[in-house]
Amino acid sequence: MSDIIIIGNGVAGDSAATVIARSDKQFDLRIFSREEYPFYQRTRLGEVLGGETAPEDIIIHNSQWYAGRGLDLQLETTITEIRPEAKVVKTESGDQASYEKLLLAPGAKPLLPPIKSLNRGNVFSLRTLKDVQKIKSRLSEVEKAVVIGGGLLGLESAYALNQQGIKVTVVEALPLIMGKQLDKIGSRYVKSRLEKTGIDFELDAKVRELSGKEIITSAVLDTGKKIKTDLTIISAGVSPRTKLATGAGLETERGIVVDKNLRTSRPDIFAAGDAIEQNGQCYGIWPPAQEQGKIAGRNLLGEEKEYDGSLSYYQLKVAGIDLISAGERNEEEANKVLTDREKENRVYKKFFLNGSGELIGAILVGDKNCYPSVLNGLRNRTNFHELNNEHELVD
Ligand SMILES: Cc1cc2nc3c(=O)[nH]c(=O)nc-3n(C[C@H](O)[C@H](O)[C@H](O)COP(=O)(O)OP(=O)(O)OC[C@H]3O[C@@H](n4cnc5c(N)ncnc54)[C@H](O)[C@@H]3O)c2cc1C
Repeated sequence: MSDIIIIGNGVAGDSAATVIARSDKQFDLRIFSREEYPFYQRTRLGEVLGGETAPEDIIIHNSQWYAGRGLDLQLETTITEIRPEAKVVKTESGDQASYEKLLLAPGAKPLLPPIKSLNRGNVFSLRTLKDVQKIKSRLSEVEKAVVIGGGLLGLESAYALNQQGIKVTVVEALPLIMGKQLDKIGSRYVKSRLEKTGIDFELDAKVRELSGKEIITSAVLDTGKKIKTDLTIISAGVSPRTKLATGAGLETERGIVVDKNLRTSRPDIFAAGDAIEQNGQCYGIWPPAQEQGKIAGRNLLGEEKEYDGSLSYYQLKVAGIDLISAGERNEEEANKVLTDREKENRVYKKFFLNGSGELIGAILVGDKNCYPSVLNGLRNRTNFHELNNEHELVD
């Protein structure tokens, strides 16, 4: 019998494990992960794909780290079932482990668009180090690639392939790239910078069909245009992993539903990270998963810590582009929107204020000196005029 079991060894599961390992209290903790690598920085997979960084350099806590703290990390072990009445989890090889308290931190999985032939050998999505290795093992045969999805991760994948000398086309259904994070102007800026590196874009277009005999050799768009491809990466968003929770009878919507203490609909089962939904919100980004993991760790220890949401914050890390997008980015949700544009579009700033004049969202392109003060202002909901008293943000 383990006192605590954690399912998932991403940032949410590892942050909870770290809190428990640092506690004075003695706990028997077992962590299960379906992956073969211990906790690594998933946000840097693009660097590994682009050949800038070796896989071992993104590992944050290796197996010795866990063993040295008396934590039992079981890699390549998928949990297939939770039996909440018996307080038992079951592995895919049929083994069982029992718990007093359980943390579900299984993350998210790539969403697959309704296109046939996604199971061919040269079509991939990018979520794990193993995915990177599979993609890299084919690169010597690749001249042209298609990335389906022009969001943040799609652009990072496209740039990584571009860095390997591959001609890449990004196909995006919306008329702009990074549509979740940027507006038209910011999006145009990023697109033109990426086009300069040689990446092509097909916007307002969908891949209707992936065709080819044994492997996919072309992507056919709904416009009828055919693009040659030796490798296709699907980057069409993610969906929280809820299957285990649903099977256990826990409440789920888009994600596993949790309360303010990150407790699921069963008092002895907590959940954190990309898999959860709280007050209708699923974040799908690293900092909230980390914050939730820390709080879940304290609650697994018997405290009653509350999680009251995170700042949703994105930063593009490719092609030397300085860009952040944080907090509210929907003009309709703001009472006032201020913009500033300088130096032939190299600097673009947009601030979203609420009715009290507090900063609630920002899009910042270029001028990275102001990022720390803007992020602090967003976290503390500072009055914008106080933040901008020397007119360093907007004139
Ligand atoms: C390529 C890429 C780039 C990204 N870049 C950014 C970025 O720049 N900024 C940002 O904020 N976010 C970024 N993200 C998102 C960020 O990585 C995630 O939000 C974060 O990793 C979520 O952490 P998590 O612990 O909830 O889930 P995960 O990191 O997905 O970890 C979940 C773990 O649980 C394991 N697991 C799942 N089911 C089971 C099971 N049944 N049994 C055992 N183990 C299981 C999984 O294998 C996995 O190891 C990026 C993601 C990717 C893929």
